[in-house]
Amino acid sequence: MIQIYTGNGKGKTTAALGLILRALGRSWKVCLVQFMKKYEYGEIMELSKLPDIDVFQFGTPELIDPNSPSEIDIIEAEAGWKKAMEVVQSGDYNLVVVDEINVAVAWNLLSLDKQLQLMKAAKNCELIMTGRYAEEEVINGADLVTEMKEVKHYYHSGLNARKGIEF
Ligand code: ATP
Ligand code: MG
Repeated sequence: MIQIYTGNGKGKTTAALGLILRALGRSWKVCLVQFMKKYEYGEIMELSKLPDIDVFQFGTPELIDPNSPSEIDIIEAEAGWKKAMEVVQSGDYNLVVVDEINVAVAWNLLSLDKQLQLMKAAKNCELIMTGRYAEEEVINGADLVTEMKEVKHYYHSGLNARKGIEF
């Protein structure tokens, strides 16, 4: 099955992490591929201690300008896609989470066609794709789509991302 967690509210990546925890508890083999992320995250520090999960991060620590992404952002997104393809085709994993891929496509770091190819390739695993701005064709091709809707968020009052809560 293919699941999408999208929308502008908080909870997309953490929902995927919750599912990872559940799957690991059932002795599933899990792979997490993250786009546009190269910082230290609480979840990655903890997950990398576990034997049944492999984590691959692509991106740079710099913020991306959605209107003019740099060449390195595109190179990293392509590398992330190649890794995700390899992982879903390997048959080595029961659950594959591709975090923020929807944003990578929306910001033109990766083509929509490549995301659709990934979905086609995911025949032998559960595939979760997260990130705002999931394209209509991606939504149409998925089996489950959840939209996190922002009702209220403290960042509008100027609060920065907090360790332990946002990263
Ligand atoms: P989470 O990782 O907490 O589940 P998410 O995956 O739904 O959140 P993203 O859109 O990936 O959310 O954003 C990453 C984090 O940055 C989220 O925790 C979100 O609350 C926070 N965030 C989003 N937009 C802003 C902003 N403009 N300023 C500060 N923080 C933000
Ligand atoms: Mg996220």
